[in-house]
Amino acid sequence: MVYFVGAGPGAADLITLRGKALLEKADMVIYAGSLVNPALLEYTKDGCHIYNSARMTLPEVLDTIEGGNGAGMDIVRLHTGDPCLYGAIQEQMDALKEREIPYEVCPGVSSFCGAAAALKTEYTLPGLTQSVIIARAEGRTAVPDRERLSALAGHGAAMVLFLSMGLTEQVREELLAGAYREDTPCAIVYKATWAEEKIVRGTLGRLPQMARENGIDRTALILVGDFLEGEYALSRLYAPDFSTAFRRGTGR
Ligand code: SAH
Repeated sequence: MVYFVGAGPGAADLITLRGKALLEKADMVIYAGSLVNPALLEYTKDGCHIYNSARMTLPEVLDTIEGGNGAGMDIVRLHTGDPCLYGAIQEQMDALKEREIPYEVCPGVSSFCGAAAALKTEYTLPGLTQSVIIARAEGRTAVPDRERLSALAGHGAAMVLFLSMGLTEQVREELLAGAYREDTPCAIVYKATWAEEKIVRGTLGRLPQMARENGIDRTALILVGDFLEGEYALSRLYAPDFSTAFRRGTGR
């Protein structure tokens, strides 16, 4: 059996209990070495076969999995954060299906959640924003025209950008073309939840300088939006006069 497992954003104790149990019983682990914390490999048992996919091609990964599966091994394919975001797992799952190799997926804590925790912030604030846009700037990987940042920027929602640290000038221009302002709050979170975590706060207008001055060109998220500093309303759910299925409010 093959398990695609979300490793979490970095800190080794932010993997799920299920993910850790799968690592403990795995006979083979193929981990995304560029971003997965190697400390997670300490959960594996003696004799576990370990491969770093940062040095492998897709066919090599698939052949390695097929070999292990043929030998009756339990295999963990360990991806950073949650594998459902920019994880390149669909192509692996489809290939396994074709080869009739069974697989399951175990979710993880995505780095966009790790970054919010590092900033001690909430993306969805009443009266301010109730939506989060998860996107990336167009680099070597093409982005559909209708999903260009300039097209998404019209909403002014909480914006989280993956894989865009090398494109900060472009991010700035495209977001300014929409509902964001030069003074819209902006943060860069580098290696959220790792020991090397670094937070840089500023405004969208200064995003390229923020990246440059701090030497951050990878493994970071860009967060933009008024949720980082703006005035918000208190939630209705916990308002004293608000009744819910679990609590009768004082108001009526
Ligand atoms: N599936 C992963 C994302 C993989 S794409 C997830 O759910 O988080 C890789 C990109 O994710 C990086 O270029 C960076 O933009 C972001 N990233 C991954 N881990 C990060 C972390 N700990 N802190 C900040 N950004 C991170």
